[in-house]
Amino acid sequence: MDLLSYKSYCAEDEIKREKQKARRLRATRWWRKKCSSGRCHYCGRFVGPSKLTMDHLVPLARGGRSIKANLVPACKECNNKKKAKLPFEWDEYIVEQ
Ligand SMILES: [Zn+2]
Repeated sequence: MDLLSYKSYCAEDEIKREKQKARRLRATRWWRKKCSSGRCHYCGRFVGPSKLTMDHLVPLARGGRSIKANLVPACKECNNKKKAKLPFEWDEYIVEQ
């Protein structure tokens, strides 16, 4: 096993735990309040509270945590775009908005 796959092997359990935490936070009043504006954190578009998804500013795979400061509402479009991009590409995308 090379170092990279060893590291991701160790991180898997951690990520599972953080995902569970995110699910729990999604059921809280705090999250509902955050989504009540119906606006995407990234593009600022109004899509309505029910269309917003929970996104990690720093992805779990990059060591991000499911804490309130790292969770933002994002529209599906931004969420998909973010997933497909490398972090520095995503930074550029955000600056252009
Ligand atoms: Zn968006």
